[in-house]
Amino acid sequence: MLSTQDAESLILQSIQPLNSRRDQDLVPLRNAHQRILATAITSALDFPYWDNSAMDGYALRYQDIQGCSPEYPAVLEVVTEIQAGSCPRLSVGSQQAARIFTGAMMPLGADTVVMQEDTNRQGNQVQVCHCPTLGAYVRRQGAYYQAGTPVLGQGTVLRAPEIAILATMQCTTVPVFRRPVVTILSTGNELIAPDQPLQPGQIIDSNRYALAALVETTGAEARLLEIVGDQPEDLKAAMAGAIATSDLVLSTGGVSVGDYDYVDQILTELEAEILIAAVAIKPGKPLTFARTAQLVDGLRPVWYFGLPGNPVSALVSFWRFVQPALRKLAGQSRDWGPSFVAAQSAQALPAAGPRETYLWGQLSLKEGRYQFSLADGSHSSGNLINLAQTNGLAVLPCHSPTLAINETVQVMKVGSVGDINRPL
Ligand code: AMP
Ligand code: MG
Repeated sequence: MLSTQDAESLILQSIQPLNSRRDQDLVPLRNAHQRILATAITSALDFPYWDNSAMDGYALRYQDIQGCSPEYPAVLEVVTEIQAGSCPRLSVGSQQAARIFTGAMMPLGADTVVMQEDTNRQGNQVQVCHCPTLGAYVRRQGAYYQAGTPVLGQGTVLRAPEIAILATMQCTTVPVFRRPVVTILSTGNELIAPDQPLQPGQIIDSNRYALAALVETTGAEARLLEIVGDQPEDLKAAMAGAIATSDLVLSTGGVSVGDYDYVDQILTELEAEILIAAVAIKPGKPLTFARTAQLVDGLRPVWYFGLPGNPVSALVSFWRFVQPALRKLAGQSRDWGPSFVAAQSAQALPAAGPRETYLWGQLSLKEGRYQFSLADGSHSSGNLINLAQTNGLAVLPCHSPTLAINETVQVMKVGSVGDINRPL
């Protein structure tokens, strides 16, 4: 059985990103949030676009005020006023100054700005009482970015800072990777949809909904199929249909060793190559990862993940293995894998068996250190109730002994934007 690291490496080696040219959408800047750049962005504009003032004050020549002080102020003639947004009409000559405001363009001739707090204005004269350094409070054209060099690389995830950069570069139509299409199906004779009446023995499908939410956090498009029973013909038709219309297919259930677990057998019948059949992880041992025979655009295989049916196993498998795969497929240039932090455990943690064991709970910062609080209640893979508010999974290495309270444990961050987790 593969270790989690080997499984992750195999998955990431297999999956290649969408094609940056064929799989490109041009989206308005306003819709570009959380999309992934398909090409590097290079601007024809320097940033700042021109020399401008960082202060409200006076633009002048440094040599005219050198050595001035409150006792011996330099006295200059104010020849013009430059508001933000206007183009200076006059240049500044010797013994002259221009009244200037923050963000306004520097006039020719001036090389330095003195802030207004260091001056006294009398009519058309200004006294300068403090001498800053040469070039003070001038934001030079191109100081932060020179036109013609890439400002954002291919594969960059666009969040607020990158959106601001695109706006200032006048990139109003943004080339992004199209969203990968991920079809999600739940299989099991016992399953019903949440809006159906519950009969004895049935189980309400939660996996499709949870996985759709997770798929969407990676920027992919989630498509949900109807529940499929454990009849091989039905399942085969559903799987084949999903494979034919997706970049990646996610199913839950039917990958274990039970008599009605048909997913692997059907994948083989469909001429898929099963690359992973099980991983030494708890929860989530039965994990199928397959390269199907279907090609997208004749180029790239459609990938299939068969996850275990237990709700917690399905989510842990997604976080650990599917999310990195989707991030890479979607075109993200790096940071595919989960991030792990060392945290102090607020509870004792049990010893682990032969599989790497993941226990769910909450990660928080306490006095500058990460702390992990184990979720109360059962850590059975069938208990999804105490999974609420999970943002970290403590990772217990294979055969690790009991961990005492306050000992350090590696915790895999999971979850969403806005908390201490890495944004998705
Ligand atoms: P399986 O992997 O098919 O052997 O299913 C393992 C367990 O997970 C069984 O108790 C199933 O009833 C349950 N299960 C399977 N699929 C789902 C689902 N979509 N939502 C909730 N529970 C499920
Ligand atoms: Mg089943």
